[in-house]
Amino acid sequence: MPFCEVIVDIANANVDRLFTYRVPEGMLLQIGMRVLVPFGPRSIEGIVLSFKEEAGMEIARVRSIKQPLDDYPALLPEIILLARDMAAQAHCPLAATLRLMLPSQMRGGRIRAKTEKAARLLISGDTLLEAREKETRSPKRRLLIDLLSDGDLHPLSELKKLVRSPLPALNKLVETGIAELKDLEVLRSPYAGMDHSEKDPVLTFGQDEVLGEIGPALQKGSGAFLLHGVTGSGKTEVYIRAVRECLKMGKTAIVLVPEIVLTPQMISWFRGRFGNVAAVLHSRLSAGEQYDEWRRIRRGDAKVVIGARSAVFAPVQKPGIIIVDEEHEQSYLSERTPQYDARRVAQSRAQRENAVLLLASATPSILSFAMAEKGDMMLLEMPDRVNGRALPNVTVVDMREELRLGNKSMFSHQLLTGLEECMRSGQQAMLFVNRRGYAPSVVCRKCGHVLHCAQCDVAYTWHQMDKRLHCHYCRVNVPMPDGCPECGGGYLKALGVGTQRVEEEVKRLYPNVGVVRMDVDTTSGKDAHRTLLSRFRTGEARIMVGTQMIAKGLDFPQVTLVAAILADLSVNMPDFRAPERTFQLLTQLAGRAGRADAPGEVIIQTYKPEHYAIAASATQDYRSFFRTEFARRRRDLYPPFTLLVRLLCQAKEAQTAVEVSVKLYELIKQEMALHPLLSKRVLFVRQDESPIKRIMGQYRAQVFLKLLNHKDADEIIAHLNTLAGMDWPCDVTLEINPASLA
Ligand code: ADP
Ligand code: ZN
Repeated sequence: MPFCEVIVDIANANVDRLFTYRVPEGMLLQIGMRVLVPFGPRSIEGIVLSFKEEAGMEIARVRSIKQPLDDYPALLPEIILLARDMAAQAHCPLAATLRLMLPSQMRGGRIRAKTEKAARLLISGDTLLEAREKETRSPKRRLLIDLLSDGDLHPLSELKKLVRSPLPALNKLVETGIAELKDLEVLRSPYAGMDHSEKDPVLTFGQDEVLGEIGPALQKGSGAFLLHGVTGSGKTEVYIRAVRECLKMGKTAIVLVPEIVLTPQMISWFRGRFGNVAAVLHSRLSAGEQYDEWRRIRRGDAKVVIGARSAVFAPVQKPGIIIVDEEHEQSYLSERTPQYDARRVAQSRAQRENAVLLLASATPSILSFAMAEKGDMMLLEMPDRVNGRALPNVTVVDMREELRLGNKSMFSHQLLTGLEECMRSGQQAMLFVNRRGYAPSVVCRKCGHVLHCAQCDVAYTWHQMDKRLHCHYCRVNVPMPDGCPECGGGYLKALGVGTQRVEEEVKRLYPNVGVVRMDVDTTSGKDAHRTLLSRFRTGEARIMVGTQMIAKGLDFPQVTLVAAILADLSVNMPDFRAPERTFQLLTQLAGRAGRADAPGEVIIQTYKPEHYAIAASATQDYRSFFRTEFARRRRDLYPPFTLLVRLLCQAKEAQTAVEVSVKLYELIKQEMALHPLLSKRVLFVRQDESPIKRIMGQYRAQVFLKLLNHKDADEIIAHLNTLAGMDWPCDVTLEINPASLA
């Protein structure tokens, strides 16, 4: 067809429509292909979304496609539909959601396939034999002809292993028309060499039962499940078997995992069982690796994809199952625009492409569990650990009591005893601290002033490693001032406990024991987290100190003691999800202990032992926590009963942000007065500063609404989105149930 419709790669509402272009004679295009098009005075990347015979009214202005950017459609039709759905739901331009579907390196042509020279014979049969006979003077050329006689392309690197400097001889063969040299794509595979085949264990009763439900759904090509399996119940084995079932049916699979830190373990499990058929997608891979893994999937060479949230967009064809491991994790919510929730995307993708959806966790999110209770998903349970191992014994230690007894240290008496016992018996321990750095705040002892980042409304964290003050929001760091900037007093004191401080204390107590610290600071290098984990796995290190990243998914059989140094930080967060997150964090953390034969002990230190989230994690009773929390959400009108919507205004000047938010607030109030439906659905609306008033020099003010979770909420949100999109003198973003209310 002579014309096509293209969406250009500009995420702006003004150009959020299809533009018609002429397809030059002889250019082969397909729907979903990336193309370069003239746009105004520039050339821009775009994606072909449809073809048509006529250009209609636009004919006079129609310009021609410049060139295709790849020789295959980068986007599958189902993926385009997914992008359209998401754009409609997030009320954002299609170009913005389409961007999510491609490796970012592909845009702007910043990355190319890596190639190497490869040789192939152009002759065969008798001609080949003749040519070989003629090469009497060069045994090297003869050998090369023999090596290439299968007619396949052989990379130069392979030939070099068999023939010393083969290039001149090859060139000669090329000159005489016997062989050709071509560029062959080389894939940069990050996990090559990690394969090892492992045998299947005999399934436990629980695994067998659960798979008995999933199997028929896979055959049918539909079904949504929530698997509630306690820590150590063997959920991974369930994933592996279900994925294998899909492969047998000629289908593919996606496994989403929350954190980079647990992926090496998950990846080695999957690679061990599926080998090269498994591909890995996450942001820690180099640009080239990401791009190559993506292409391996797109070509159909890799049929199982393991990755972080954006792997839900992986270009697999015919997915049979989409699995979301540790589905309660916050990292499935993307906070960058366009916002999305990978679990909900997985759900709609599974539905459209006839795949089964499997969400799994030891501590399901309140929202997912409520959906299962309502019957929107089928609840599957694995209440027992593999081989009937007991769940660890959890003790909550009241730190107020410790203080009263004169213990001012960060370790309670009980923890010190436990650690001593653990070290003496040659086992391993994990100590969890909510904060990285040395101390979460620095305070003037004379006037009480807390040192704040100059650009953010956030207290500095003291880092002992580089002896500087760090802002964990904007990542700036500065030296400690000589005196208090407020009163000039010279008594600045670092307060509270961070990972570095715990590490220091542990090293003081056990100078001869290896300690690894895992937090953002120690794991930012490319292979850093793998190295640290392996030091712990081999037993070279026996104590691990870390932030949230150690609470999840890790499986170390020698760990018998796990402790939370201070659980309060998490409960005290000003967020309606604080109890849920605390319960999840502590229960997951507890699950790291006693995974093999030796029983596990867990110690939770807190100043608030009576808080229901902390008490429930001590008994590890999910259902009782769910009931209490769900009742509280209903009573206080929190999600899922309501939707929290915020219009966040950010500006260089405080006044601008506040003015815009006040105007928005007034507009909404006016409309509520006019439309009775609106005032019925909006439970409250308020204008204020956001909890963190300034981040990276941007002042933040907000309008905050609570909407009844009702069928017409979407209509109201669409309308609020229009208000946000008006021509304001500052940046206005609309967030629905944002992951962070900061
Ligand atoms: P979960 O993710 O539910 O916490 P894992 O999948 O990490 O649990 O499994 C816990 C441990 O049990 C792992 O070391 C795993 O290899 C082992 N395991 C799982 N299933 C079986 C089985 N059927 N037989 C023996 N060991 C198993
Ligand atoms: Zn800052």
